[in-house]
Amino acid sequence: MARAVPIGRFAPSPTGRLHLGSLTTAVASFCHIKSLGGQWLLRIEDVDFERCKNEYSESMLHDLTKLGLHWDGDVVYQSARQAIYDEFLTGVLHPISYVCRCSRKTLADFAKTHPKSVRTATLDTALSALSDTPNLNAPLIYPRLCLPKNDKTYRPNTQDKLRLVLDDVLGGFYDGLQGMIWDNPTKSLGDVVVKRQNGAINYILACAIDDGLQGVTHVMRGLDILPMTVAQFRLQESCRLPTPDAYFHLPLIHNPDGQKLSKQNLALPIDSTRPSVLLLEALKRLGQPTDDAMQHSSPEEILAFAIKHWTHAPLMRRQSLGVAQ
Ligand code: GLU
Repeated sequence: MARAVPIGRFAPSPTGRLHLGSLTTAVASFCHIKSLGGQWLLRIEDVDFERCKNEYSESMLHDLTKLGLHWDGDVVYQSARQAIYDEFLTGVLHPISYVCRCSRKTLADFAKTHPKSVRTATLDTALSALSDTPNLNAPLIYPRLCLPKNDKTYRPNTQDKLRLVLDDVLGGFYDGLQGMIWDNPTKSLGDVVVKRQNGAINYILACAIDDGLQGVTHVMRGLDILPMTVAQFRLQESCRLPTPDAYFHLPLIHNPDGQKLSKQNLALPIDSTRPSVLLLEALKRLGQPTDDAMQHSSPEEILAFAIKHWTHAPLMRRQSLGVAQ
């Protein structure tokens, strides 16, 4: 059902400062949703308390403000929402959850003795049909060693993880940039871990719940998250939450080694003292019309121009926005 105001969001994990890749995602999702007359929410995905830091979320808010990327409403911090996620886990998700006590060593030993075990799907396989040739570097699909015990007594800070059994069927959705995507998450990801050994809710569930609860209608995010999208639809359905109307998985910026530009591989943080130059760089990467004379315009003027001229055409069916440091 179409909702009154389109709602988009930017949902960074504060494990480092914004870099050109995350900035480009922010600019794209902002311009796109504003071109539809919608609202742009900011959600800080800081559930992983071992990797996320307050100083990074503060610097993100500071940089977005300097860049004229003004969010609507209050910032939502996932770290303050653990009780909400737990309510879903002990409520509607309880019947499909089970505690997994397998250590890394148990799984590594299993992989050695079962060399033909199925591996998780890569981005390539999610983009086409599921592959017959497993990537032996990819993690093992969890072989459900703990499922028969159907134990539901989860104890944080032990080996325990909480996994969910999702419907074992193929599902599909139309991605506004990448086309039709088909996936069966039970085959490509396995029984997803939704609560980790340290007691933190996993990204895949927290993000699905919040997109549902915040009434997000348009999700524009990096292509690296595409392999999780059908699972997130299924999680929202299991939580009896609304699902977004449209997804757009953006091509990524890569480093010279061909890896996605990311905090993990030490992408340089942006320098928000030059906001107009940065915005123009992000818009050029996104293939949007720009005018070099705009270097002297304010971030708000550049964004108003970009919103007016926003187009998906240069982003269609592309996997990369080129190489950067
Ligand atoms: N928090 C995720 C990240 O920073 C993005 C989540 C999303 O946009 O769905 O990679």
